[in-house]
Amino acid sequence: ALEFSEVSKSFPTQGEGSLLAVDNVSFRVEEGEFVSVVGPSGCGKSTILSMTAGLYQPTSGEVRVSNELVTGPNAHVGFMLQKDLLLPWRSIIANIEFGLEARGVGREERRARAMKELEHCQLSGFEDHYPYQLSGGMRQRAALARTLAINPEIILLDEPFSALDAQTKLLLQNSFAKTIKEAGKTTLLITHDLSEAVLMSDRILVLSERPGQVIAEIKVDLPHRDQPIKRRVLPEVGEY
Ligand code: ATP
Ligand code: MG
Repeated sequence: ALEFSEVSKSFPTQGEGSLLAVDNVSFRVEEGEFVSVVGPSGCGKSTILSMTAGLYQPTSGEVRVSNELVTGPNAHVGFMLQKDLLLPWRSIIANIEFGLEARGVGREERRARAMKELEHCQLSGFEDHYPYQLSGGMRQRAALARTLAINPEIILLDEPFSALDAQTKLLLQNSFAKTIKEAGKTTLLITHDLSEAVLMSDRILVLSERPGQVIAEIKVDLPHRDQPIKRRVLPEVGEY
């Protein structure tokens, strides 16, 4: 599980003073739960993700993953940042293996885990392609495969579909949600898109404008969510 307890974060500004980005935020994401954080631009969403990933330390309060205080980047948390997803000079499989190599996973296991996640993300056959040879949606799926391959307890996604067209977005929202659910991962999705949050998550935390405070919590209960999206919304689209 992931837990924020009274977390605030301020950044130094030029000259005197500081900018409060996140204001006394508390929440808990249970094991296997998919929670979204929505809010206007600049309200502190990416800052929340960075503190969960251990990239920033809170100014006050505590962030815990599996009851352990997060004090820096760690193997429990895998994340997809808002941009700069793949290394352009490495093939897709080499991109996925890169993170595993850094974690000391041996050559054969690296390859096996990378191939398995490529298959889960419907990218079998594209392992030797380079990022520029894939569509935007495929690159997003490759980035998810890389995150899943690390097998973290918690997955953090920051606006993973913001650069995609509406139809690709809808297909990927559905396929990401399904892939992540099947993997049983605890997930925090950052998005400014409330409909995306409703489509993908079990629960939604709504932040105010900066400084971000949790101003509402929405429990999502969509009875038809588990049906394939092509039957539900896009009858003309084939199996994705
Ligand atoms: P968006 O929806 O546009 O991505 P966001 O909700 O993710 O916005 P953050 O990136 O978390 O917003 O930024 C929140 C506030 O903190 C902003 O005012 C931003 O300028 C500031 N901020 C974020 N990171 C830093 C940093 N490293 N140094 C200084 N200020 C920062
Ligand atoms: Mg952001």
